[in-house]
Amino acid sequence: MSKFGRRKKENTYFGYRVPYENTSIERAIQNYLKKLNIPFRTQIPIRGKPDIMVGEKILIFADGCYFHHCSLCFPGKRGRYRDKWITKELESRGYVVLRFWEHEINHNLKKVMKTICEKIEEIYGDRYVNKK
Ligand SMILES: [Zn+2]
Repeated sequence: MSKFGRRKKENTYFGYRVPYENTSIERAIQNYLKKLNIPFRTQIPIRGKPDIMVGEKILIFADGCYFHHCSLCFPGKRGRYRDKWITKELESRGYVVLRFWEHEINHNLKKVMKTICEKIEEIYGDRYVNKK
């Protein structure tokens, strides 16, 4: 399939990431997951370095608005091709990818978490969602 046609070019970006760019927004999601007793992992050693992984399928990215070119917070910017490509690539490998902007996490964490929880239930049934 031609979806890997641009791999070589895009590969030059992999490894690049400002180490602390997302820390607080990642942590906001992690803390909420903890509160809900939903197990997750961080530091996922797969392409694109997802910030959070729930189970074996769900990958969560918290994208900083500045570094990921959010067009809402930085008019004139377009979302990074690399991010879209990574999402597609991971989805083609069977992962479910959730991406959230920094401004969504900062301003509407409840909505972000609702989306995450709905996806968790959809993919895993209720075994991860604490019903107690
Ligand atoms: Zn934004």
